[in-house]
Amino acid sequence: MVQKATVADAVGNRANETMKPSPLRIHRPTTVEETLDLLATRGDTGKILAGGQSLIPVLNMRLAAPSDLIDITSVAGIDKLEVSGAGGSEEICVGAGVTHRRVERSADVARANPLLGEALRFVAHPAVRNRGTTVGSIAHADPNGEMPMILALTGGRIEVRSLDGERTLGAEELNVGPLETSLNSDELITRAIFPALPAGSRTGFDELARRSGDYALAGVGMILDVEGETLTGLRCGFVSVTDVPEILDLGEAVSGVGLGDGYEAADAIAEAVRDFVDPGGDIHASADYRRHLAGVIASRLFRRLCRSDGVGGCRAAADASEADSVDRKVRNAESPVETTGEDTERRRA
Ligand SMILES: Cc1cc2nc3c(=O)[nH]c(=O)nc-3n(C[C@H](O)[C@H](O)[C@H](O)COP(=O)(O)OP(=O)(O)OC[C@H]3O[C@@H](n4cnc5c(N)ncnc54)[C@H](O)[C@@H]3O)c2cc1C
Repeated sequence: MVQKATVADAVGNRANETMKPSPLRIHRPTTVEETLDLLATRGDTGKILAGGQSLIPVLNMRLAAPSDLIDITSVAGIDKLEVSGAGGSEEICVGAGVTHRRVERSADVARANPLLGEALRFVAHPAVRNRGTTVGSIAHADPNGEMPMILALTGGRIEVRSLDGERTLGAEELNVGPLETSLNSDELITRAIFPALPAGSRTGFDELARRSGDYALAGVGMILDVEGETLTGLRCGFVSVTDVPEILDLGEAVSGVGLGDGYEAADAIAEAVRDFVDPGGDIHASADYRRHLAGVIASRLFRRLCRSDGVGGCRAAADASEADSVDRKVRNAESPVETTGEDTERRRA
C-alpha cells in the first residue's frame, strides 16, 4: 500500500512553519517488490526509512531533502533474524527490519557470534536500539558506527535487491568512504549476514565515549584465534579512527605466542594499532588523542582476551543475559585510561 500523505497533509498548511524536515511524501509499501518499484521510480529523490534513528536527524537538520521517504517498517518478510547452517557454515542472517535490540538480545546470536551482541551494547541507548536497525546502520556507513566495522571484521556480507536483480557485497565492496557506500539509489539491502565465529576463538569489543550513549572517541573489536594455549591469529577492527572499516591483521605478529605471554605482546599490539589507524580531530578529541586511545583500548582488550577462560568473550560460552548488558560506556568512561608504560608496569605488579 502506498500512502501519499505529505507532511503538509499531516500538519495542515502550516507545514513549513512547524515541521523540521523539508516537505516530503511518505510511502508505506508492504512488499519488497513494491519497495523496489518505488525506489526505481523515485531515483535519487527517494530515500529508504528504516528505524529513522540516523535519517530523521539528518532530515530535521535539512542536511538532506528527499522528496519521498519509503518507510520499510511494514514490508513483509524482512524482519527475520535467523541462525542457519551448521558447524563451520553457520551464519546469522539479519533482515532489514530487525532492530539492534533484537540482535543484541538473541541467545542464538550470542552463541554463534558473541562479538555482535557485545558491540551492539555500545550502540547508543536502548531506546535508540529499540528502533534502529542493524542493516540501517550498515547502510548509513558511519565510521563512528559499530556495525559496519563488525561486518568487516567478521567477514560478513550484505544481500541487495533492485528491479535489476540481486547482488551480494562484502564490507570492503560496500564501504566507499565516510557515510558513503557503493549502493545504487534504487537498491534495498534485504539482509546482512554475519558468519558464526569458529569455536574456541576469543572475541571482544571495547570503546571509550565521553558520555553514556555517545558515539565512541575510539573503539576496537578483536578476534583472537587460539589453539590450545597458543595464539594463531589476531584481527582488529576500529570505530571512529578510520574512515571506512579497515581490518588490521596481526596474525604473523602473534603467531606462536602463548596465552600466558599476552601481557608482553600487548604493548607491541598497541604500537601496531597506533601506526595503522588514521583518525581525524574534532571538538571532542584531537587526532593524537584518538590514536593514543585506540592503542590503549587494543592493548587492554588483547590482555583481557588472553586472560579470558571461557567466560564472556569466548565463542563457546557466550551468553546474552540482561545482566551482561550493563551500560559499559559509562563504566569505561569512568575507568581511568592507562596512558604510560609505567601504568602498565604498576598494573602487572
Ligand atoms: C542519540 C543517538 C545515538 C546514537 N549512537 C550510536 C552509536 O553509538 N553507534 C552507532 O552505530 N549508531 C548510533 N546511532 C545510530 C543508530 O545506530 C541508527 O539506528 C542506525 O545508524 C541507523 O539505523 P536505522 O534503522 O535507524 O536507519 P535509518 O535512520 O532509517 O536509515 C539510515 C540510512 O540507511 C538507509 N537505509 C536504511 N535501511 C536500508 C536498507 N535496508 N537498504 C538500503 N538503505 C537503507 C536510509 O535510507 C538512510 O540513508 C545513534 C542514534 C541516535 C539517535
